[in-house]
Amino acid sequence: MEHFYTLQGEGIYAGCAAYFVRLAGCDVGCHWCDVKESWTYSENQMMDIASIAELATGSGAKIVVITGGEPSIYDLTLLTRALHEKGLRTHIETAGAHPLKGDFDWVCLSPKKFLPPLPEYYSVADELKIIVYNKSDFAWAEEHAEKCRKPAQCMLQAEWGEKEKMYPLIIDYIQEHPEWRMSLQTHKYLEIP
Ligand code: SF4
Repeated sequence: MEHFYTLQGEGIYAGCAAYFVRLAGCDVGCHWCDVKESWTYSENQMMDIASIAELATGSGAKIVVITGGEPSIYDLTLLTRALHEKGLRTHIETAGAHPLKGDFDWVCLSPKKFLPPLPEYYSVADELKIIVYNKSDFAWAEEHAEKCRKPAQCMLQAEWGEKEKMYPLIIDYIQEHPEWRMSLQTHKYLEIP
């Protein structure tokens, strides 16, 4: 769908330079999705893997974040291999909706209620990022954290449209449960990609 060099805006790697590859296509269907234009794809969006790897390398990035959409709908084996051959780190941001195919240095699992993650993701997740849309999501977050391999980094991030209501609750929750950390969508505050 798009690719660009920026700083990772959220999660553990917030503030790190990263080349983003946003794959088109998503079958998860979050009603609050802020990239609904990523749900579909067309033939004219196709890029070859070598070109993506060249562009990422040429940008100066050390990290490539593969996101979506829902990137796990694709077999990413050849893409991650090409990126590794260029000496780049491969990160993925996924709802874990489909089997993970590819070699990733960092797996950020962000479960969605609309299409829950496959069980295999709990053993490979390096980072668990829960989007908090309402109060009941704290209990839902704990359910996922319990299933994760330790020590997955556990992050709470307010859904953007609910951030005024949810961040005060997130702050209180993290003070009471310091194993969690707060994730802010800094790129949205700074209005960068
Ligand atoms: S998984 Fe991501 S891209 Fe897909 S609907 Fe949910 S927020 Fe949007």
